[in-house]
Amino acid sequence: MNPPVLTVNNLTKYYGQIRALNNISFNVPEGSVFGILGPNGSGKTTMLGIIMDILRATSGSFLFFGQASSATVRKQVGTLLETPNFYHYLSGEKNLRIAAEIKGKGHEQIPSVLRRVNLYERRQSKFSTYSLGMKQRLAIASCLLGDPKVLVFDEPTNGLDPVGIAEIRSLIKQLAGEGKTIIMASHLLDEVEKVCTHVAILKQGNLITSGHVDEVLVNEDIVEVSAKDI
Ligand code: ATP
Repeated sequence: MNPPVLTVNNLTKYYGQIRALNNISFNVPEGSVFGILGPNGSGKTTMLGIIMDILRATSGSFLFFGQASSATVRKQVGTLLETPNFYHYLSGEKNLRIAAEIKGKGHEQIPSVLRRVNLYERRQSKFSTYSLGMKQRLAIASCLLGDPKVLVFDEPTNGLDPVGIAEIRSLIKQLAGEGKTIIMASHLLDEVEKVCTHVAILKQGNLITSGHVDEVLVNEDIVEVSAKDI
């Protein structure tokens, strides 16, 4: 069996006196859609910040593909931590070209990436004319440049209208079907049930449980504990 895509070992993070993460460990299997589920302030963004090398853990470690973080490992990981600053007066395609330049990626993959997020037909429309869901799909297109094996999304449906939410959830499932491993934070139990294959539940910086959703989310106590807060 392949090693887990991500192994998190005893991660702890303090911001001064505030303990945001307390000794967290879990594995992300290859090909999974792995939800990090928890209410506001439970430590989801901190966890993603650490695995993306934006934040330094106070203690503990993590490995991608069994290796410590490096430029080579990082090339395999596409991230959407916040909506990128696209130019409103430029087309979706031009915006993606600029994103490719910034990331040092070639332009040749842009048509296929636009098709994968279902924006090819609207590639020449100005970004300002895009719906919220289309804007987020363009952001995901930007993550796909370079064809990373792993995608990390922080609350990818946050702030979207119902149509946009449905579009992004279906795109996440499609990308998983293409073989990507997806790690996504969410505060919505319902979203994790609909989209994710695996989940880690965080509460006040503690890991309540992790595993396959079919095993974790059938435990009524856990669902109740999480749903009350989420
Ligand atoms: P949200 O959904 O609101 O972003 P979250 O689950 O992502 O919540 P974090 O943002 O990781 O949680 O926050 C975890 C804890 O760490 C919270 O108590 C938060 O107040 C605290 N925290 C986060 N960032 C900082 C910071 N830069 N300085 C001090 N405390 C912080």
